[in-house]
Amino acid sequence: MTDHNNNPYYSRTDTTHLQISDDEWKKVLPKEVYNIAREKGTEWAFSGKYWKTDIRGDYYCAVCGNHLFRSDAKFASSCGWPSFFEAITPASVRYVNDNSHGMRRTEVICGRCDSHLGHIFDDGPAPTHQRFCMNSAVLDFEPETK
Ligand code: FE
Repeated sequence: MTDHNNNPYYSRTDTTHLQISDDEWKKVLPKEVYNIAREKGTEWAFSGKYWKTDIRGDYYCAVCGNHLFRSDAKFASSCGWPSFFEAITPASVRYVNDNSHGMRRTEVICGRCDSHLGHIFDDGPAPTHQRFCMNSAVLDFEPETK
């Protein structure tokens, strides 16, 4: 779990859209979270903390606490990043065209704080056939307790 003690914007209950400058985010986020969330970095495949996590629970944005995914929608992908076939609600994430690095991809950003989370591809499993290819560093996993 990311340390949020220094981050006053983190909330699991407040759904207000955040407009925070990168300068401010830089002060409150751990370096690797800032690099991916605000500079659109990508962690190395098979390096993140959640790519093979398969226990029940919920995934939240590590930047703002927004509920993003449930373990029910996570699937074992060979790509080396945590992969989901759907977000917890349609408004949990937003999509942005990304033509960087000579590729046409769709970027996935957090619906609350606009942070970069990863990309979405159309080679996922049923029922959606989508693959949300996410960076572990911008996710917080909360295991189910019961
Ligand atoms: Fe967020």
